[in-house]
Amino acid sequence: MNLDSSLLEILACPQCKSPLRADERTEELICTREPCGLAYPVRDDIPVLLVDEARRPGETRHAESAGESPTAER
Ligand SMILES: [Zn+2]
Repeated sequence: MNLDSSLLEILACPQCKSPLRADERTEELICTREPCGLAYPVRDDIPVLLVDEARRPGETRHAESAGESPTAER
């Protein structure tokens, strides 16, 4: 993931307008506000800031062994 840090500064969570932080491991942008905490995917270095596309923190399944297809193909 190669995100411009200045881009990251102007981005905000569309749901709660809080700043986002980049998570290099999951290649997501994570909302920094706790009750929200939505994780937005980054596709081809382009953040997808859509609430519909975001992963909700409440959906805690064991991320390591989740049967879902991993979107990370580098
Ligand atoms: Zn948020």
